[in-house]
Amino acid sequence: MQTSIPNWLMQRAFLTPERIAVYDGQGKKTFMELHESVMKRARQLANTGVRKGDIVAVFMKNSVAMIECIHALHYIGAIVLLQNTRLTSHELAWQLKDSGAVYVIADDELADRIEGNIRVITMSELSALPEENVEFQQYYHFDDIATIMYTSGTTGKPKGVLQTYENHWWSAIGSVLNLGLNENDCWLAAVPFFHISGLSIMMRSVIYGMSMYVMRAFDAKKANELIIGGKVTIMSVVSAMLQKMIADLGERRYPETFRCMLLGGGPAPKPLLEVCKAKGIPVYQTYGMTETASQIATLAPEYSLTKLGSAGKPLFPSQLRIEKDGQVARPYEPGEIVVKGPNVTKGYLHRPDATAKAIRGGWFYTGDIGYIDEDGFLYVLDRRSDLIISGGENVYPAEIEAVLLSHESVEEAGVIGIDDETWGQVPCAFVKRKRGYSVTVEQLKQFCQAHLAKYKIPKQIYFVDELPRNASQKLLRHQLKQLIPNNENGAL
Ligand code: ATP
Ligand code: MG
Repeated sequence: MQTSIPNWLMQRAFLTPERIAVYDGQGKKTFMELHESVMKRARQLANTGVRKGDIVAVFMKNSVAMIECIHALHYIGAIVLLQNTRLTSHELAWQLKDSGAVYVIADDELADRIEGNIRVITMSELSALPEENVEFQQYYHFDDIATIMYTSGTTGKPKGVLQTYENHWWSAIGSVLNLGLNENDCWLAAVPFFHISGLSIMMRSVIYGMSMYVMRAFDAKKANELIIGGKVTIMSVVSAMLQKMIADLGERRYPETFRCMLLGGGPAPKPLLEVCKAKGIPVYQTYGMTETASQIATLAPEYSLTKLGSAGKPLFPSQLRIEKDGQVARPYEPGEIVVKGPNVTKGYLHRPDATAKAIRGGWFYTGDIGYIDEDGFLYVLDRRSDLIISGGENVYPAEIEAVLLSHESVEEAGVIGIDDETWGQVPCAFVKRKRGYSVTVEQLKQFCQAHLAKYKIPKQIYFVDELPRNASQKLLRHQLKQLIPNNENGAL
């Protein structure tokens, strides 16, 4: 039998109509007010012809209007395709075509980036449209696709991840069973809604009846003010955001009211975790991906030093294990991270090949390598596709990058394997120096010698002005090789 539960925002507006759903710095809306504006937008969308089952792209920056559009599409029963606003026109056109979306709702200033044969509805156009009656989905069916989100494309071409209502529901429940919920909680959404880190905040807000504060674009100073002023109690960040906030914070400290800094999206540098501990910032390190509808494992701050660098244990409804050569690995033995749970996707849009490769026997193969210690804590090492095998030893680029990044002159670092006659492959590093610093290749190699086994020390180190990153600001290691100068016969 198909599980259905009442439409989330409608139910929330019925249960706790007066509670504040959303703040944005200019104003606020209760859940009832949000529900009312969502009904209006849904009727305006119906006027443009949007119907149940349509795939409708949303190409917007964080705003209350964006939240309304996503809910409104769900009221109609449409599938929401969330698009990264940093995509180039070409990348966007590819994703829109690949998805089969029929409409795209866009912020006015983003609309001219959309190419191809698709009906574009700008926000100002939508807001001016008359309303047309449309049947609202009173229930959400667990099996139905609520959203589609393309992966960041760090390891290859992005894939459209199908996220069901069930995935979002259980993701929100798994998170709250771990983090708990306070009556005065307000979650700062400074990460984009087009990523699962942001969208999951919106889902939690309506499911829990919790306020959220929407930031259009991340601003470290403003985020610190909101935390220090006691306006927000939880925030989701990636490490680059947290670094900026700490730099802005200076000697100030966060108040007790701030109870969770949820840090995810990629590896967390150890020096950053240590600074947070010293400053009393309650960091919850988390591991997750688009395919797991946000967190699948999270580490509570009480373990942040004893289990330094760990991403914690799986959330209550989920399971996680490490597989090596088809067997469950022993504690500390690295292998592929394999996960299972009601928050895990049922597959990729139009990609039965990729789906069959990733989901086997009910388990999702993440493509990430990690290990579990004797207490069941997960440590993420790296992407399987980026592993370097040097003289039979496994070398994880992320470990070398972390060492390079801990050097005071290094702003960014990327490591790949390059062919070597003796060892098969050897690590090769690309470093962007901080402005005003003049470290040499030799000095960096010496620094690595003090922190890494000999076979992990980069044989070549190149200084570059910029590292290749995708629209999610993730390092594209597979493009690093192109930065090696053609006439190269030694380090620069
Ligand atoms: P693609 O799948 O297209 O290559 P992507 O994997 O970068 O893109 P996302 O779903 O945005 O797309 O990112 C999830 C990935 O981020 C994880 O699979 C993992 O590699 C990395 N990641 C997330 N959390 C952590 C963490 N705590 N430590 C290390 N890596 C992490
Ligand atoms: Mg991925």
